[in-house]
Amino acid sequence: MVGAILTQNTAWKNVEKAIAGLKREKLLSVSAIRRTPMAKLARVIRPSGYFNQKAKKLKALIQYLDERYNGSLQRMRRQPMKVLRPELLKVWGIGPETADSILLYALEKPVFVVDAYTKRIFLRHRWIKTDSDYHQVQQLFMRHLPLDEKLFNDYHAQLVAVGNRYCGRSEPLCEKCPLQPFLPTDPPYADRCETSEMNCIR
Ligand code: SF4
Repeated sequence: MVGAILTQNTAWKNVEKAIAGLKREKLLSVSAIRRTPMAKLARVIRPSGYFNQKAKKLKALIQYLDERYNGSLQRMRRQPMKVLRPELLKVWGIGPETADSILLYALEKPVFVVDAYTKRIFLRHRWIKTDSDYHQVQQLFMRHLPLDEKLFNDYHAQLVAVGNRYCGRSEPLCEKCPLQPFLPTDPPYADRCETSEMNCIR
């Protein structure tokens, strides 16, 4: 849950530094975050960037957990996803990607997390449109794959690995990338949609 918030608008290597700080200070638990003053929390997670906001978001998440589930992640986990997702989206500072990361990674619910890597890779392969929103991209996966938490977890991890190693923001290394055989050839995306089995997003 902590990682889902710390990773907002930053690279994972910065999150790792912040998590190492939390471990070093023995603050990587619900009870420790609950009792730690906001200023100290912000100081420890500073490497993740936007640290004041993120400290406030961590506190808001723990407050929700306390008020709704008496501080118990186990109790929260027993709720179905259709209850949890709208609840999480009402917590201050939690948007769809963060909510879905918490659902998938902390609560083991079968939901696909759409992040910047997913969008970049799928856009470059013309499997989605430039104006596809979060929900539309997510539905592409969730309608065409079995609703399996382990599968979604592994699929997302592989997209992150490809994004990190090959599909950089400015210079994609297509020649070396395992997804190179799946790069589009002409005709352009709009035409391919008519016949594509990927069921293109419109
Ligand atoms: S082949 Fe690899 S590097 Fe090139 S666009 Fe696709 S995912 Fe990115």
